[in-house]
Amino acid sequence: MQRIAIDMDDVMAETAQKIINIVNNANGTNWTKESVGKNHPEFNTHYLPHRDVLFEKGFFRDIPVMADAQEVIKKLHEKYEIFVVSAANEFPLSLSEKLEWLEEHFPFIGWKYTVFCGHKYMVKADYLIDDQPRNLATFEGKGLLFDAPHNQDITDFQRVHSWKEIEKLLL
Ligand SMILES: [Mg+2]
Repeated sequence: MQRIAIDMDDVMAETAQKIINIVNNANGTNWTKESVGKNHPEFNTHYLPHRDVLFEKGFFRDIPVMADAQEVIKKLHEKYEIFVVSAANEFPLSLSEKLEWLEEHFPFIGWKYTVFCGHKYMVKADYLIDDQPRNLATFEGKGLLFDAPHNQDITDFQRVHSWKEIEKLLL
């Protein structure tokens, strides 16, 4: 059985959208995922003063699920070994929140197939689905770059725009 490692933030969870909402509420701006993608350096100047929210209790617990992720990952789970691999250790309070979030939205995966880490270069799998180029750069299997506002300039990896696209690719 082939193994797929799946990142959480901006792959299973709409983390960027939650951050954009926080920045807009604080600054009275109207950034969207699309406009952030086109002007990421400018958005960062708005976002960086608010980066502490990532360390606050509760931030990771109520992030909306990415469109079609539940349906497609459930189907993938029947054909592949699925591991969730999240570089969560930077945010200590996120660990229990992410486990609870996974149990709520993806109960079929389970804690035995959930890996919280810092680096991901030790991950061994056939596929890695991740929005961060640095994680794909060191991956020895087939990396799929999940489209996100902050990776619009990256051309080194196969880009996937949605879970429906992943479904067509892997099922
Ligand atoms: Mg991510």
